[in-house]
Amino acid sequence: MMRIAILTSGGDAPGMNACIRAVVRTALHRGCEVYGVHKGYQGLINGDIEELTSKSVGDIMQRGGTILHSARCENFKTEEGRQLAYANIKKFKIEGLIAIGGDGTFRGAKHIAKYGLKTVGIPATIDNDIACTDYAIGFDTAVNTVLDAVNKIRDTASSHERTYIVEVMGRNAGYIALTAGLAGGAEAILIPELEYDLDQVCDTVRDAHEKGKSHCIILVAEGLLGDPIVGAAGSDGSAFRVGRHILENTGFETRITILGHIQRGGNPSAQDRILATLFGAKAVEVLLSGESSKVIGIKDNRIKVFDIGEGLAMKKTIDMTQYELAKILSST
Ligand code: ADP
Repeated sequence: MMRIAILTSGGDAPGMNACIRAVVRTALHRGCEVYGVHKGYQGLINGDIEELTSKSVGDIMQRGGTILHSARCENFKTEEGRQLAYANIKKFKIEGLIAIGGDGTFRGAKHIAKYGLKTVGIPATIDNDIACTDYAIGFDTAVNTVLDAVNKIRDTASSHERTYIVEVMGRNAGYIALTAGLAGGAEAILIPELEYDLDQVCDTVRDAHEKGKSHCIILVAEGLLGDPIVGAAGSDGSAFRVGRHILENTGFETRITILGHIQRGGNPSAQDRILATLFGAKAVEVLLSGESSKVIGIKDNRIKVFDIGEGLAMKKTIDMTQYELAKILSST
């Protein structure tokens, strides 16, 4: 019988609860005991740990957020912090840890594995910026949230024949903007990974107007080329800069919508629930097989297992075919 702990760390993402459920029930089915760690690595340091039963994870699959709560914990980046955490791991006789989160969470799992604890990371972030997986838990739901907003904005945009700029999350990554832009038929998509020309965006706006298009929607990823992230900095970010440039150079007024934290919440989509379930079950199997310092991913529709170090070293690139296609379809 193995004692497995589970935690969620870093930014929360819809589908984390479905993943917790899958881990707990797969582990119980395989004869393990499962412990939930509250508030990420901070909970390991504080000993904020409780045994989870099948009932503990009932009725959570459809809920956003994480029942274990998440937190950032600077102390865990230090050897002293990890020693405190390890003392609790020993106290609870925990042999394996499943850490759900992003790259930072995986770095933490890699470090604590050096103490002899078996660790597995599961990718969960709406930003989808984890290289060892095509999709992270939460991304699909966030894209659907953006699409829902874009549909609504399009209704009002069409009525007033205005240009709308929608700023979406992603930190330094443009996956949400690109995917929602392609799926939502945005006239322009601006993402941090690709150089952009605001004068070209002005041409797009003029062109849409001349063609008599009833609307023009521009999707802008937050953090475009180092702009402050509005939610984090409380200041004027990428969308405002784009809006000002359009007004100054075309005379067309724009309306700006910053979608913000609604993108983090909501019921997980079917795709996220299934991904979370497959990842969770696989993570338990990896621990039971005796492996450690691994991370799960999905590549070309297949569940894969990588060494954490290998996963962290991978690079992810934007799918240029998608980007070019979005451009062609909105400008033709
Ligand atoms: P994410 O997991 O979404 O990338 P963070 O980068 O904030 O989010 O990381 C989540 C947590 O993981 C941090 O608050 C910290 O506790 C832990 N962590 C991040 N980087 C390291 C590191 N280099 N060593 C140890 N722990 C780390």
